[in-house]
Amino acid sequence: MKKPIYLDYASTTPTDPLVVQAMTPFFFESFGNASSPHSIGQKARKALEDSRAVLANFIGAKPSEIVFTSGASEGNNQAILTLALSLFGKGRHVIISAIEHHSVLECAKRLGKLGFQVDLVKPQPDGIVDSASMIQLIREDTILIALHHANNEIGVIQPVEEIGVVARQKGICFLVDATQTVGHIPVDVKKISCDLLSLSAHKFYGPQGVGALYAREGIHLEPRLYGGDQETGRRAGTQNLPGIVGLGQAIELCQKKMEKEAREQAALRDYMIEFVLTNIKGSSLNGHRQMRLPNNAHFSFEKINGEELVTALDMAGIAISQGSACKWGTLEPSHALKALGLSDELALGSLRVSIGRWTSKEDVDCFLEQLKSVIEKLRK
Ligand code: PMP
Repeated sequence: MKKPIYLDYASTTPTDPLVVQAMTPFFFESFGNASSPHSIGQKARKALEDSRAVLANFIGAKPSEIVFTSGASEGNNQAILTLALSLFGKGRHVIISAIEHHSVLECAKRLGKLGFQVDLVKPQPDGIVDSASMIQLIREDTILIALHHANNEIGVIQPVEEIGVVARQKGICFLVDATQTVGHIPVDVKKISCDLLSLSAHKFYGPQGVGALYAREGIHLEPRLYGGDQETGRRAGTQNLPGIVGLGQAIELCQKKMEKEAREQAALRDYMIEFVLTNIKGSSLNGHRQMRLPNNAHFSFEKINGEELVTALDMAGIAISQGSACKWGTLEPSHALKALGLSDELALGSLRVSIGRWTSKEDVDCFLEQLKSVIEKLRK
């Protein structure tokens, strides 16, 4: 059977074989617990700290500012819930974009139940959250602002630097979910002026189930998991050593490849957008044409049910999704697309194409041909 064409890199990327190679010894000869005093444990500790240094350097942080987690969901939960509780006395107002990932939105909902006031800021129709609209909501008692670096569905890149400058001036904690950008476009915590930043290794060719939370020096980050002193008391539990080694190796590969990959993927993305908009009637692009991730194109099609489209494409050998894998099967239109002002019909008739390291021009051509014919069939 022919291998499926994978166009769902935004949900997860395949692990790079070089990452798997780097991880493998840490299941066998170097399997130690990084907190053990003996030489096997210390070797594990060294590998862990090497990965921390590699990641820190890549995002412009200090190694001591990196807390390894199980991924961005955990990072976002820790950042929002522990921070809000520790700043409870200072203020109870939080500003969050309405198109954040559910791991941010659900935490905000939780804060609402705990007595916080949460302002959700809708994006403009092009998917960009207007920084001035966010800034004007700041109050004396605002303790946290959250804006993701790029959206996981429509791939729009947000003006995080503009928010960062103001948040820093006013001493408000600023959380940036950079899950979709790390390894794809430059991410520098100093340029963004964020206090907290979350990421997941499986979005940049590392393994699933491992990630990190950057917490700027001076930010008091409470643990969400209590127990041992791992991660300097900020996250209890034996670290996922092979995963963390994999994360470090994935970052090293991105360091070498990111610029070229972004350029090539952006060219393929633009080619796809051009093709779809010219050759498929009733199609539209969701999100800003240029201010988007190099590997993301997100479309809506009139008179198409997105779930049927995804299933038909799957049967044609193309693995692709409508948007967030975390909410697949809910039959609800995506909160992000609704926030852009799309009708239910267009929000439900959407498709996210996310390409990556192993997507070829042939893959894209084959997909476009299938897409056109599947849409024609479904509309009949
Ligand atoms: N934030 C964003 C923007 C994401 O795309 C994702 C993954 N879809 C997450 C957070 C959560 O990451 P994970 O599932 O690895 O915890």
